[in-house]
Amino acid sequence: MTTLASSGAIAKPGITKSSFGKTPDGAEVELYTLTNKNGLEAAISTYGGAVVSLKVPDRDGKLADIVLGYDSVDGYVSDKAYFGAIIGRYGNRIGHAQFSLDHKRYMLAKNNGANSLHGGIKGFNKAIWTAKEVPTKDGQALELTYLSKDGEEGFPGSLHVRVVFTLTDSNELKIEYSATTDKKTVVNLTNHSYFNLAGVGQGMGDILAHVLTVEADKFTPVDSGLIPTGELRDVAGTPFDFRKSTKIGERIETNDEQIKLGGGYDHNFVLRRKTGAGMSLAARVTEPTSGRVLEVWTTEPGVQFYTSNFLDGSVHGKGGVAYAKHAAFCLETQHFPDSPNQPKFPSVVLSPGGRYHTTTIYKFTTEK
Ligand code: BGC
Repeated sequence: MTTLASSGAIAKPGITKSSFGKTPDGAEVELYTLTNKNGLEAAISTYGGAVVSLKVPDRDGKLADIVLGYDSVDGYVSDKAYFGAIIGRYGNRIGHAQFSLDHKRYMLAKNNGANSLHGGIKGFNKAIWTAKEVPTKDGQALELTYLSKDGEEGFPGSLHVRVVFTLTDSNELKIEYSATTDKKTVVNLTNHSYFNLAGVGQGMGDILAHVLTVEADKFTPVDSGLIPTGELRDVAGTPFDFRKSTKIGERIETNDEQIKLGGGYDHNFVLRRKTGAGMSLAARVTEPTSGRVLEVWTTEPGVQFYTSNFLDGSVHGKGGVAYAKHAAFCLETQHFPDSPNQPKFPSVVLSPGGRYHTTTIYKFTTEK
């Protein structure tokens, strides 16, 4: 750990590039490290566009890496947890791995029981992205682009995708997603970072004592395959009520039917979006021992809150550390799961001539 406050030596702002290894078929993968003027650091891999590490200060200025991941590309090639990755073409599940557009049925790759999850067998998390440093006024920025071909994993239309990561000098990791298509299709992009604000590494604990607020009055309950039933249910009187800040672990062991189905939290919240169309606060998480605070702001209508219920200690990440159940939380900003089959959910359809564009900001501060 580097102590910013004590050393006074803040790393120079900028972007550096290093080798992250090769994929089994010999493709070179790079790691870009963005450093802002306060010494915060975000490392992003061209494989899957994964945020491999994210170093932010605690209340004493001590930097720690706060995301799960692997030391080299090999881990990401075999990864099944989507650590830090760009998720697409469709974030979360599409029921029965199929949907219709203009009366045509599209059959998708099934990779989660009968369903399609996070884009299919080879989602955007397994793609090699083309990287370019881009000039910005508010920090260091890296552009990643990828062409998802017509028919890839069953989705119609060639989709040109652009994701820009900016580590701003206001201590935010800003992610801007855009896409265009040549045939009508569905799109839902997100980032799958697993956060533990106390810091990841040897001896790390779980996230059950982190304190969460979610700006949502409703959530989308699921069936046994974790597909939304279509209902928008009030959070009031349920373990999903995070309108007042509450410890993540406080109600996770209840007999609540929805918590049992998810093995913890694995649900989409319907954001209240107080500020209308632009950026709106989705969630806030504080970690009492370090004082680290994460705020998630987004243009999206939903956020998937996932408490790493499927981690079981069998996956070894950075430094060989075993990642246990509830070792981290995810806040995946998105349109709702299974929207292509749910006419009442906000639309995820993108047509030729249109442009998909969403923004999410992870903002880091501290409190006493
Ligand atoms: C999903 C979980 C899934 C996890 C990792 C989350 O977005 O909702 O069900 O296990 O991603 O794949």
